Amino acid sequence: MEATGGLQMDQPLAFSSPRDPLQTDGSLKKHEQNFKLPGVKKDIEKLYEAVPQLGNVFKIKDKIGEGTFSSVYLATAQLQVGPEEKIALKHLIPTSHPIRIAAELQCLTVAGGQDNVMGVKYCFRKNDHVVIAMPYLEHESFLDILNSLSFQEVREYMFNLFKALKRIHQFGIVHRDVKPSNFLYNRRLKKYALVDFGLAQGTHDTKIELLKFVQSETQQESCTQNKSHVIMGNKISLSGPAPKELDQRSPTKTSVKRPYTNAQIQSKQGKDGKEGSVGLSVQRSVFGERNFNIHSSISHESPAVKLIKQSKTVDVLSRKLATKKKTVSTKVINSGVVRKTGSSCPASLTCDCYATDKVCSICLSRRQQVAPRAGTPGFRAPEVLTKCPNQTTAIDMWSAGVIFLSLLSGRYPFYKASDDLTALAQIMTIRGSRETIQAAKTFGKSILCSKEVPAQDLRKLCERLRGVDSHTSKPTSATQSPTSPDQIFSEKTDHVTPYLIQTPPAESSGDGLCKRDRNGCGSLFDECATNLEGWNEVPDEAYDLLDKLLDLNPASRITAEEALLHPFFKDMSL
Ligand code: ADP
Ligand code: MG
Ligand code: ZN
Repeated sequence: MEATGGLQMDQPLAFSSPRDPLQTDGSLKKHEQNFKLPGVKKDIEKLYEAVPQLGNVFKIKDKIGEGTFSSVYLATAQLQVGPEEKIALKHLIPTSHPIRIAAELQCLTVAGGQDNVMGVKYCFRKNDHVVIAMPYLEHESFLDILNSLSFQEVREYMFNLFKALKRIHQFGIVHRDVKPSNFLYNRRLKKYALVDFGLAQGTHDTKIELLKFVQSETQQESCTQNKSHVIMGNKISLSGPAPKELDQRSPTKTSVKRPYTNAQIQSKQGKDGKEGSVGLSVQRSVFGERNFNIHSSISHESPAVKLIKQSKTVDVLSRKLATKKKTVSTKVINSGVVRKTGSSCPASLTCDCYATDKVCSICLSRRQQVAPRAGTPGFRAPEVLTKCPNQTTAIDMWSAGVIFLSLLSGRYPFYKASDDLTALAQIMTIRGSRETIQAAKTFGKSILCSKEVPAQDLRKLCERLRGVDSHTSKPTSATQSPTSPDQIFSEKTDHVTPYLIQTPPAESSGDGLCKRDRNGCGSLFDECATNLEGWNEVPDEAYDLLDKLLDLNPASRITAEEALLHPFFKDMSL
């Protein structure tokens, strides 16, 4: 991706190795594409072969994105009389379910095309190959520009994100995968586009017909399944076979699929009782958790194997979250068991293994809780992480809050967790364990946490991470910084270092040379000035909005419509 903004800084990349052609956000880095060119050429040839009619219309130039479920290409087309148009061609993996594809398209056609929601121009299909043609929006890599954005740019970014979210939420679309790589941002043109409805679901009154279909089945399943409880965490209780969920593999393009509906899964699996043998099976998972919505009535590996696997997972979890010998581990229990209100489907059975490390026979006979789960762990709302069946558009607002947290702290990804419990524990370290437990009760979940961690002051946290003290407006150096990211989540493993301490951003390396100076001090200093622009006087409204987005309780979390009216945006108009 070409940076279109005026600022180009050579910053160390914390999260992607220099040889990795895919960035954290899945987009391809321009300067590394040459290295990959033969592969890209091959892919383009294959696409022409798979969908020959593309050749009549487009010249496919380059591959610009590769996610787990699609490849996206830049093409040009002479569509009407006039100049060549740039088009993004999204080639969905052929194993995506037709309804899922149709629903994605319907979101784009019905809600897209305005208010920063990507629209669609054409769609091509041959056999199981589907290509969605969209207007191309050249965009930045979030990581590359994160530390050079002015405070005003951050305001505009968030404002425009809420505009897009308001639009899709009005249509009853829950995006479910809001993150920077799905919100395209052209800095120079100040253009924005929310993309990727591949995980979208509908609200109960959605205006997207196909989502209604997907959603109704999911909800129905959730309700019937909610009587079971799922316990995860240290020394596990297991509520029935759910081996797929415990399968912590890294995603590969061939082994994962988009989710569809439970009914579909069941009927397909009903044939032979094995998920793996279903030809074009139906569900997808993210980050290697292959199957979220699977019915537990299907025979799988023995529970013993699962227990071992789960214990392994938890060991990793404890290690990852060890902060100076303190460990936070979590368990999530459907509080049907403790008879909490707020759950949409109250449980009827109680058992005696609650809050113990054992699995009682009642629990062993329970079926797995089914709730829609998708997205990227670091952006998932607490109600998603705890598999609350009742999920609303509020989950997108949480994800927007995590983006905002990155923008204010200068850290991306902010939460980097490979599984939901790690993500939940990381949330606790920011928002407080008691607060998280309290909020979870309101949506019918009990969380057990081995250790109490206090909530952090958001302003202090962001300023520490950003390395700018707002009161003195002096950048603090990394060594002076009282809190290194590693102290927030100690998750240092050999290959995962979510909070790698970077060389401090440019403004703090010049030792006093980079004061705010609008009157030109060479290009380097202009950049420094831009970096500091507004950052030494971040208003309280910013942190108030952040607090309302990262509201642990989805029922009181701010909506997109409300966010646009928040004082943080007081002089901005729709
Ligand atoms: P996936 O489901 O594989 O994540 P996306 O729809 O998110 O697919 O597209 C993947 C990437 O392709 C995006 O992150 C973005 O970099 C690029 N992309 C997608 N649509 C467009 C577009 N209309 N214009 C420019 N780039 C796009
Ligand atoms: Mg995407
Ligand atoms: Zn039990």
